[in-house]
Amino acid sequence: MLSPGLKLQIRQELIAAQIDAFMENELLAGHTSLGVGGPADFVVIVRSQEELLSLLEIGKTFGVRPFVLGCGTNLLFSSRGYRGLVMKLGGHFNRITIRGSLVAAGAGASLPRLARMASARSLTGLSFAAGIPGTVGGAIKNNAGAFGREMAQVVQEVEICSLKGEMRTFSAKDLHFGYRFCRLPMEGIICKAILKLERGEKEDILRKMEEYRRIRREKQPIGKRTAGSVFRNPPQGSAAQYIEQAGCKGLAIGGARISPQHANFIENFANATSDDIEILIEEVQKKVREIHGLDLDLEMEIVACKKD
Ligand SMILES: Cc1cc2nc3c(=O)[nH]c(=O)nc-3n(C[C@H](O)[C@H](O)[C@H](O)COP(=O)(O)OP(=O)(O)OC[C@H]3O[C@@H](n4cnc5c(N)ncnc54)[C@H](O)[C@@H]3O)c2cc1C
Repeated sequence: MLSPGLKLQIRQELIAAQIDAFMENELLAGHTSLGVGGPADFVVIVRSQEELLSLLEIGKTFGVRPFVLGCGTNLLFSSRGYRGLVMKLGGHFNRITIRGSLVAAGAGASLPRLARMASARSLTGLSFAAGIPGTVGGAIKNNAGAFGREMAQVVQEVEICSLKGEMRTFSAKDLHFGYRFCRLPMEGIICKAILKLERGEKEDILRKMEEYRRIRREKQPIGKRTAGSVFRNPPQGSAAQYIEQAGCKGLAIGGARISPQHANFIENFANATSDDIEILIEEVQKKVREIHGLDLDLEMEIVACKKD
């Protein structure tokens, strides 16, 4: 953790900047879908551009780089937590406005909410996203996708605030989208995106969304504490199949297990710790390497706590 003196100074600066939506020693377990993760020195809800700029300034002054957290649905935080500032975008960053087939979405807005709003306006292109439980910012950063569609196909431009507080707009091609990732052209925070959708038939869009939801309910451990797919699919095939063939389905370490429903999901089924999950990941990687001679790469992101 940061020293008590440094924390006091940061607290005073936050209050002076009128950033009052912050929590200290906040357990990250409550901010992630896996429900694990130790305390962060500060979790700050940033509600406007002014607050964002002030927070970045505070981070710079004290040499503490903020980590931007969406809904925490693709993250594993260490049980030692996070030293420094974790920021979540709220308020102004949750706004969504739709004009014709162009959508302006704040990076803190919920992706499923955006997909529902688009369907209500008979706009197609985001049906795949209805069951992806994150924010617009997280979805762009990860180029989230499902059922053969991904964010890269709808993002037109993105507004990014650099760590120095400079706002710039980039077109989709500047983001170098790839399989479940994008490379931001400058280090910073995605603040807003313009998405280009297409006109469609509302009935068809709603039917497709319901169909996708049904497939998820059948095949995935929906409602359990997971972070979605743990491993990327290798070019040769499906990670879930390799894991299952390596005999790992149901394998448990402490309170974490490979989902009996879908082998590429890890469930926190009984108060798992971050270590349980990390050890389980390593165990699966080892078994798949032994049986298939294949290295599985992580899709989920592990956020390590630097040593004090
Ligand atoms: C039940 C379940 C089903 C899922 N299904 C899918 C699926 O079908 N397809 C899929 O792709 N994923 C899926 N996921 C994984 C996850 O929901 C997506 O990756 C999602 O896009 C992550 O968004 P988030 O807001 O939770 O991001 P987080 O997990 O909070 O963060 C992910 C990364 O994005 C960065 N980030 C977040 N916001 C910003 C921002 N504003 N600016 C810059 N960086 C930012 C974070 O720093 C972090 O590096 C699933 C997860 C669950 C729990």
